Amino acid sequence: MTLPNLQDYHRPATAEEAIALVQQHGEGAMLVAGGTFVHGLEVRGLLDNVTALIDIGRLGLGGISREGDTIVLGATTTLAAVAAAEFVGREPAFGALRDALTYPPPQIRNAGTIGGSVAAAAPLYDIPAALLALGAVVRTTGPKGRRELPLDGFFRGLFESALAPGELITGVAIPPPPARTAGAFLKLETNANDLAIVSVASQLTLDGAGRIAAVRIVLGGGVGETYVRATGAEAALAGQQADDKAFAAAAKAVSGDFEPVTDHRGSAAYRRHIAGVYLRRTLTTARERLG
Ligand SMILES: Cc1cc2nc3c(=O)[nH]c(=O)nc-3n(C[C@H](O)[C@H](O)[C@H](O)COP(=O)(O)OP(=O)(O)OC[C@H]3O[C@@H](n4cnc5c(N)ncnc54)[C@H](O)[C@@H]3O)c2cc1C
Repeated sequence: MTLPNLQDYHRPATAEEAIALVQQHGEGAMLVAGGTFVHGLEVRGLLDNVTALIDIGRLGLGGISREGDTIVLGATTTLAAVAAAEFVGREPAFGALRDALTYPPPQIRNAGTIGGSVAAAAPLYDIPAALLALGAVVRTTGPKGRRELPLDGFFRGLFESALAPGELITGVAIPPPPARTAGAFLKLETNANDLAIVSVASQLTLDGAGRIAAVRIVLGGGVGETYVRATGAEAALAGQQADDKAFAAAAKAVSGDFEPVTDHRGSAAYRRHIAGVYLRRTLTTARERLG
């Protein structure tokens, strides 16, 4: 790995110190948490101007806490720690997050962090898709104070997010899912270290009569410059009985929800087809998880 202009490495003890260091180094500053994506950015020539790495591993931002029924994943909590959390393993509502966390290899799960996964703004990542389906909110602190940014609208493009210069993610808050909610996530990849061809995260809430009271569907992978909310498929499902007929209608509708890319991993037509198949499968799994 080469950072041709790197001069400084800092390991601040507080968020305030980290923000001051970012301001001091200006555009040359780069935050590092688990460091697993630094190489990915470097090979794309995006780090040539980096002069200082600011390691945020000692800011005390790790850990999972509850604020009432809201769950807060600290920014430097590793993916492995989230996967090991009791509620993730047990509750159907966290099924999509649980599924998504099985994809990264163990080395990445042990070093990569929730904050880094979100801040990277790479729609090829699985965990943010699941967090989007859960309606999560990003918490930040920066030169202008603290902010809460819903993940809906946070991702602006490939490697682009709503974070302002010098703004640090402190955590990701997950609001309490409604009763009778379950999620599921699936992705198609060529092998365990390749990028997602298509991924689908589905979150389903049923009423007492088995009708769909709420649904959130997020597409990732090569479906565009950033994650896509499948609003057409969601509309096809809203208020319907959660049966195979409704799921088939949603699978048809989802092909109009995005403009996939064509590359060596798959054509746009193939991606549209897989999105429909995986949508049906994730909805079926979510329904099964509700018993
Ligand atoms: C071989 C490999 C396989 C992978 N497989 C998968 C997979 O199957 N599924 C999947 O979802 N992901 C996968 N990933 C991606 C992985 O999840 C991310 O690399 C990881 O989550 C990033 O976290 P990090 O702490 O290492 O971030 P870092 O590499 O430290 O940082 C990434 C970016 O985020 C910024 N940043 C980090 N933390 C913060 C913060 N708190 N506030 C503001 N900015 C911040 C950094 O400045 C940098 O721009 C894979 C990565 C690799 C290298």
